[in-house]
Amino acid sequence: MKSLQDQDPKVFKLLEEETDRQNYNLELIASENFASRAVISAMGSVLTNKYAEGYPGKRYYGGCEVVDVVENVARDRAKDLFGADWVNVQPHSGATANAAVYLACMNPGDTLLGFDLSHGGHLTHGSPVNFSGITYDAKFYGVEKDTGRLDMNKIRDKAKQVKPKMISIGASAYPRDYDYEAFRDIADEVGALLWMDMAHTAGLIATGNLRDPLPLAHVVTTTTHKTLRGPRGGMILVGKDSENTLGVTARKSGRTKNWGEIFDSAVFPGTQGGPLMHVIAAKAVAFGEALEDDFKTYQTQTQKNAKAMANKFIDLGYNIVSNGTDNHLILIDLRNKDLNGKIAEEALGNAAITVNKNMVPFDTESPFVTSGIRIGSPAMTTRGLKEAEFEQIAILIDKVLQKPTDEENHKKVEQEVRDLCDKFPLYDFVTT
Ligand code: PLP
Repeated sequence: MKSLQDQDPKVFKLLEEETDRQNYNLELIASENFASRAVISAMGSVLTNKYAEGYPGKRYYGGCEVVDVVENVARDRAKDLFGADWVNVQPHSGATANAAVYLACMNPGDTLLGFDLSHGGHLTHGSPVNFSGITYDAKFYGVEKDTGRLDMNKIRDKAKQVKPKMISIGASAYPRDYDYEAFRDIADEVGALLWMDMAHTAGLIATGNLRDPLPLAHVVTTTTHKTLRGPRGGMILVGKDSENTLGVTARKSGRTKNWGEIFDSAVFPGTQGGPLMHVIAAKAVAFGEALEDDFKTYQTQTQKNAKAMANKFIDLGYNIVSNGTDNHLILIDLRNKDLNGKIAEEALGNAAITVNKNMVPFDTESPFVTSGIRIGSPAMTTRGLKEAEFEQIAILIDKVLQKPTDEENHKKVEQEVRDLCDKFPLYDFVTT
């Protein structure tokens, strides 16, 4: 068989270009990371050929003896990593994991109380343009204007008012940790299910760097490619103490299955067809890496780097939402600098610094413009950068943002970015 390079030089060249881009840009998108060569190898493997609808030991296809073991390895490692009682590693993405939770826990028209997208929440938590907001009656809680943080008393009042069937926690742009106990009290008080979407923070939770939702939320979903540093994908988990509550409250009327069976059927056949076995193998590899001691060191450094950078930005006169961070991301409100997110994202892109424009709480700009940028530390921490380099990056960002239209200035900063990237090499291969 021909190599990719021989078979399809056009695509191979694009992969070379993208590898070069990843090697020579400062990757600061909070939802991205750099998977290891081992994870990438498992993803680019012959397991992509295998159909395996169903679950280990109960498949609709023959020839599943090897992939059954692969899926069990992934499940067992995920259970160890998070102290979970049950997991499903088949969701193709964070969004499909969330779709399965809705299918299992809600009927169309039921009320969800979710974290407002414009305050940091995610599309799949009830946005009107997403299936979640179209199918269910979504109500929202948000952060306080003066603190940028959630106020649990206000969330309690809102929950009493809207009486949700399910409350979701978790966000794409909230730099603070959550009070799961207070959320669970509220859920119990109003008879709701509690769902935590830890897509962004799963790696930090796995290592105990952030509080653990599993003992308190009825169900937890995640992506596997952000702080968890695995392949692109999703997962659903249930903690050890959730069995009784889920058995009683999550079941749709007339259902007699236990919680694990309910979520399994909500993934397949409920919302997906055949699992991506090559990705599940890569999830197994990533969970194995995350169980190693140096993953804890990595997550601790990720957090330290985000904090160091947030402090530097504050010194440089930037307005950081909630005045700091507990996790891997910071959200900068650029309004005091007379800038918006769109201009900042473009200017930084010209200097090989990749961030994304982001709404800030109580934003006055549209989602296409926004007043802020979101910056994350996971990817560059994987490359080995520490606090000093993250402070240096804050200074580089400031240099660009001081003269956002000055192309000469962009070029100078880009050279500094290249010099920094050269000190922390990343990928020395295009395909594994
Ligand atoms: N949930 C949260 C909180 C997210 O931040 C994201 C992605 O950014 C998702 C779900 C969706 O994940 P995916 O892009 O894999 O569908």
